[in-house]
Amino acid sequence: SSYQKVLEENGSLYNQVQDLKGAIRVYCRVRPFLPGQSNGQSTVDYIGEDGNIMIVNPLKQGKDARRVFSFNKVFATNATQEQIYADTQPLVRSALDGYNACIFAYGQTGSGKTYTMSGPDLMTEETWGVNYRALRDLFHISKERADAIKYEVSVQMIEIYNEQVRDLLVSDGSNRRLDIRNNSQLNGLNVPDACLVPVSCTQDVLDLMKIGQRNRAVGATALNERSSRSHSVLTVHVRGRDLISNSVLKGCLHLVDLAGSERVEKSEAVGERLKEAQHINKSLSALGDVISALAQKSQHIPYRNSKLTQVLQDSLGGHAKTLMFVHINPELNALGETISTLKFAERVASIELGAAKSNK
Ligand code: ADP
Repeated sequence: SSYQKVLEENGSLYNQVQDLKGAIRVYCRVRPFLPGQSNGQSTVDYIGEDGNIMIVNPLKQGKDARRVFSFNKVFATNATQEQIYADTQPLVRSALDGYNACIFAYGQTGSGKTYTMSGPDLMTEETWGVNYRALRDLFHISKERADAIKYEVSVQMIEIYNEQVRDLLVSDGSNRRLDIRNNSQLNGLNVPDACLVPVSCTQDVLDLMKIGQRNRAVGATALNERSSRSHSVLTVHVRGRDLISNSVLKGCLHLVDLAGSERVEKSEAVGERLKEAQHINKSLSALGDVISALAQKSQHIPYRNSKLTQVLQDSLGGHAKTLMFVHINPELNALGETISTLKFAERVASIELGAAKSNK
């Protein structure tokens, strides 16, 4: 079919996609010191091209002061948004070939998750993050293939806050709660009542994101606070019709900006703050548990333990492809969180790296 022809012409891309199948890739990105912090002491001592990162505790001496973690890739503080996306592209493009894929941003609040996924400024194309680059790329490739395949791209955007799912694309600001329905017919769209909006150019996407940001602020005392305690999931749904055979393929890409992974001291958190922290811990550990169960090829995968894993159910494991960006804040006062972030990430990466490369 003409679709096969496209795949053959894109042979190298197809091979890259095959490489990613069934594996969870983990990329680590180190945030630079921000203006005003420029004289700070960094806890990152070494970044290797082989995917190793060495964390140093300047308050300790000898062997205990250093620890090496290994990932598929480590990006140093000077990595550009373009470089970050270049290594993400094969996975994004696989949605056009009918795969389900998931890209996560993980890390403590302030470590650069939103910078990686959205970028610091919607209006500046050079600093766009993975979300906008991915959609721009999907539009570009669907144009290139237009003689063979007619693609339709649509997006949903939801927020999971305190184990409640809300639609971020409603234009009336109603902010109603939504149910999750897991059904393989839905092909990754497990929140079927959330708005699914067709998009065909980056301007469409930018307009929608403005609505999304406005809705995200509803009920929040401060936007940053709310967004650091909720997960946001941008789902890109792709439908392609082969113009000769009329066969249809469907792919799906979830772009997930996770809630801050910081542990909240039990003694410090009370009331609403404690409830938020418990929900965040629950969903991040549920995500870890699902990933571990997938790695062990367990009979039972505990998707139902959190809303997050339910939403992503058919885009984790199996034939889906997963990429996690873990973010590091290099400041000394973040060291504890840095270590626990990297340990979590190592657990996730062990699926791909196997026993040989794990350093436990
Ligand atoms: P998070 O989403 O993890 O809470 P942010 O993405 O909001 O963190 O980043 C915190 C601050 O650091 C922001 O001011 C952001 O612009 C800045 N920042 C994060 N990553 C980078 C980077 N790679 N380069 C420059 N500034 C960054």
